[in-house]
Amino acid sequence: LRILGIETSCDETAAAVVLRHPDGRGEILGDVVLSQLDEHSPYGGVVPEIAARAHVDALDGLIREALARADLPLSGVDAIAATSGPGLIGGLIVGLMTGKAMARAAGKPLYAVNHLEGHALTARLTDGLTFPYLMLLVSGGHTQLVLVRGVGDYVRWGTTIDDALGEAFDKTAKLLGLPYPGGPAVEAAALSGDPKRFAFPRPMVGETRLDFSFSGLKTAVRQAAEGLQPVSEQDVSDIAASFQRAVSRTLEERIGRGLQRFRDEFPAFEGRPALVVAGGVAANKALRQTLLDLCAKNGFDFVAPPIRLCTDNAVMIAWAGLERMAAGLPADPLDVQPRSRWPLDAGAQALVGYGK
Ligand code: ATP
Ligand code: MG
Ligand code: FE
Repeated sequence: LRILGIETSCDETAAAVVLRHPDGRGEILGDVVLSQLDEHSPYGGVVPEIAARAHVDALDGLIREALARADLPLSGVDAIAATSGPGLIGGLIVGLMTGKAMARAAGKPLYAVNHLEGHALTARLTDGLTFPYLMLLVSGGHTQLVLVRGVGDYVRWGTTIDDALGEAFDKTAKLLGLPYPGGPAVEAAALSGDPKRFAFPRPMVGETRLDFSFSGLKTAVRQAAEGLQPVSEQDVSDIAASFQRAVSRTLEERIGRGLQRFRDEFPAFEGRPALVVAGGVAANKALRQTLLDLCAKNGFDFVAPPIRLCTDNAVMIAWAGLERMAAGLPADPLDVQPRSRWPLDAGAQALVGYGK
């Protein structure tokens, strides 16, 4: 089975062709991503209207390029998968309508894919994981700990009650006068900082429910910066390092609790269970190390797909479509609507589950 995937939910326009071998292995035949970073960086964040226009400009060319790299005409794919939510509605309309038009013109089935399902299933393409496993998604728009039980069968164990983790990095960077996107800038500044100089809060730590909260941390960063006028380069580094340490410790406790819950829920699990990370924040080396150590301590495998497949891309959308096809899930009708909000566990159906 070969499928064309389209992703336009945020600030990356992407198209990919992925093949699923009969034995279940996946193979990426063509993969192109165009980041709109340069268009949004003057504004310090993603501007929805600019994003939608940029998707319109870029998408056709990227689809052509993905097919060319796969050396296939449109008639050579078996289906089309397009992200239909959650995300910025303008971008979703562009990608989903393009997918619908192509599906109609080529007479192929259309799969309207949940962007989060793409992130959740990527590790099965890259690492051949079997169900169930835990997935931590940490990006600019999402912070979720999800139990992945099967294709179409997800349980959200925790989510952020305010800012996403990537957003917290971006806002912290802005407060410190560092460039957008904030994650890489904060990480770089933290390298030469003292992580113990500021005792920043660790929201939600100790709570039994597995949610996250990062807006208090941002406020603490602002107060620390305001208390130091002028703020020297060393101060910036110290705040960045202290912020990253607070995030690290928070994740350690929150995710540690999640690993324990997994053990409780699957007492008969054979072998080593896995924690998968996804999202742009997964690029952070300090946080990766924290999660790696935590997993090692708890007997979990730590699975981090290549960053290119952790951040937004169309390979994961194509792959989610392939997984749905292989699981015998029906294609979507051509009047399917994009959804800016679409929780992963809404209306989930178990089709390929634990033990299969
Ligand atoms: P969505 O949330 O809809 O999937 P997004 O575009 O916001 O989309 P990604 O592209 O996956 O998400 O990730 C971007 C986020 O990752 C930004 O908030 C950025 O600051 C953060 N990020 C990138 N690199 C790092 C890093 N080294 N450390 C911390 N955060 C990082
Ligand atoms: Mg992005
Ligand atoms: Fe994403």
